[in-house]
Amino acid sequence: MKIPFQSFDKINAQIKGEVLENFEAFFDAKKYVLGSQVEEFENRFASYCCTDHCIGVGNGLDAIKLSLLALNIGEGDEVIVPANTYIATVLAVSHTGAIPVFVEPNVKTYNIDPKKIEKSISKKTKAIIPVHLYGQPCEMDKIMSIAENYNLYVIEDNAQAQGATFKNKLTGSFGSINATSFYPTKNLGALGDAGAITTNDEKLMERCRSLRNYGSLHKNYNDEIGYNSRLDELQAGVLSIKLSYLNKWNQERRKIASWYKELLGGVERLILPVEINRAESVFHLFVIRMNNRDGLKKYLEKKNVQTMIHYPIPSHLQKAYKYLLYKEGRFPISEELSETSLSLPIFVGMTKNQVVYISDLIIEFMKVTKLK
Ligand SMILES: *Cc1c(COP(=O)(O)O)cnc(C)c1O
Repeated sequence: MKIPFQSFDKINAQIKGEVLENFEAFFDAKKYVLGSQVEEFENRFASYCCTDHCIGVGNGLDAIKLSLLALNIGEGDEVIVPANTYIATVLAVSHTGAIPVFVEPNVKTYNIDPKKIEKSISKKTKAIIPVHLYGQPCEMDKIMSIAENYNLYVIEDNAQAQGATFKNKLTGSFGSINATSFYPTKNLGALGDAGAITTNDEKLMERCRSLRNYGSLHKNYNDEIGYNSRLDELQAGVLSIKLSYLNKWNQERRKIASWYKELLGGVERLILPVEINRAESVFHLFVIRMNNRDGLKKYLEKKNVQTMIHYPIPSHLQKAYKYLLYKEGRFPISEELSETSLSLPIFVGMTKNQVVYISDLIIEFMKVTKLK
């Protein structure tokens, strides 16, 4: 059996008719930038997230960057980010001129550890960016109360968790302003680059609309030095179609995760993802951990099972962040996660047979390596 890390086959088959029909309408409408499809998707996504506003932008990185800029965060400021996030979160902070301050994750949840946030807050701290990594919500009650106590903004990075909930509230609706990505492999993915910002604040909404469009809200009037980061009209049409399937697809991911947990639960020296109390993960990724991660990865590869590592090098050890002068060993939990984590295939359309096949291989590998 050959199993890819992820596949668009089932999703694409489900939406193909609608997408092609929509393409024809888009083509004929001849309004190719910021047309009615962007506006329609913005309305739909805001209502899906239970926020007042949604601003479509070019990608997830820009969604975070423009959110920070809308809050006037920039040079001289510090922004708290998880040390084990995907680097785009950190890059967005750097692009504004602010300094990213890394905080370790909880070793069990892989999300930023609220207990470790406070001692990283300084006079310069302006915001916290919780990242709902792998689809699992952060402990938003604790994070919101720290932010309130220290008068900080919260900007959720919801790129991996569209549709996840914490205490029945959707991720991407907690912060002052929140960012998400519709990169093709995300739970809600476009057919190219796309992203969005969600907020309940009308002023922030207007500022983002301006920032994404040359700093202009009214044609020929530029209020500030803005960017070009508009959500593509064609992508917006695709996203509107896909959004109506998102809950069903997320449920499917949860079912696949539950098969893995059932089959791999109790395997010695193997750590499985845990869901925190009163939170519902949407399993963007299914990440397991063990000591001989590279050995297992190679073994699965030999058996035609494709896996990935999210992420092999933590941001503080990347060349791009050498200037912050963090040494190896500074964030031991993040470093350990990067050495022991392995993402197993999880995608809409994955069958129980495939999950059984992969799980059996893992159990076999763990047995054989124990004997050695
Ligand atoms: C994908 C991702 C981003 C960046 O999104 P792009 O659309 O690729 O720019 C940011 N943060 C996280 C956590 C992501 O997974």
